[in-house]
Amino acid sequence: MTNHQPRSKISLKSGNLTNEQLPEYTVRVSDRAKCVRLSISVEDGLEVVIPNNYDHKKIPEIVQNKRDWIIRNQLKLAQREAFLQSQAPHELPDHLNLRSLNQEWQIEYQQVSTKSRLVKIQESKAPLKLTVTADINDIEACKFFLKQWLIQKADRHFLGCLSRISNRTKLPYRAMTVRSQKTLWGSCSRDRNISLNYKLLFLEAAVVEYVLLHELCHTVHMNHSDKFWNLVNKFEPNYKLLDKSLNQAWKLIPAWLDLEGAAKLRPQD
Ligand SMILES: [Zn+2]
Repeated sequence: MTNHQPRSKISLKSGNLTNEQLPEYTVRVSDRAKCVRLSISVEDGLEVVIPNNYDHKKIPEIVQNKRDWIIRNQLKLAQREAFLQSQAPHELPDHLNLRSLNQEWQIEYQQVSTKSRLVKIQESKAPLKLTVTADINDIEACKFFLKQWLIQKADRHFLGCLSRISNRTKLPYRAMTVRSQKTLWGSCSRDRNISLNYKLLFLEAAVVEYVLLHELCHTVHMNHSDKFWNLVNKFEPNYKLLDKSLNQAWKLIPAWLDLEGAAKLRPQD
């Protein structure tokens, strides 16, 4: 999995905890959890997910052991939140910079009064332009249809990319789906189905190719073992730098897309 650094409303102050203090957290018992899991999200703050029958007395020690991770990520999330809020996230976008396609689309809005929430999006080339015909006061509907347009673009583009890399590396996969994932750039299931986040469109082509290769390598190793990284290295010797660049890549995602729903961070990613 390639993880995504999400945003959070957690304040910067949480980075100044003294040694004795534990960060505040909530505990959730989950039928599906096999082991203890920590996550940080906008909606839930720091959450400790435990399996059924787990001894609650052990939790403070687990949280204490994960202190550095928690503090580090609370800071990261707070910085991200500040950045997003500075990007006018509640307004409609006037352009889309799809770095992976090397395409910058300008967006023009044409107001029509309509009772339905239908939004029409027309493409024109040279220069690249999207004409959005809608009731532009219905910001949610406009955003929804722009997002659908992005998902379709991603679907067409990534399918070609993935089969090209799959052929080159001789790492076959079963199917590819483009999704709006909140926490991940991509994932690969046991039966070799690859899911990709449409927001990858906003990242540089080299980084996107790395994410696709990363997921293809998971068709052989379902983990991040040395064997897995050796396989990645065989096809992309520059993988460490590319992987690291993903930590900052959220800055390239327009804030109006990122403010939907909560994203989660897990120490296991
Ligand atoms: Zn992975």
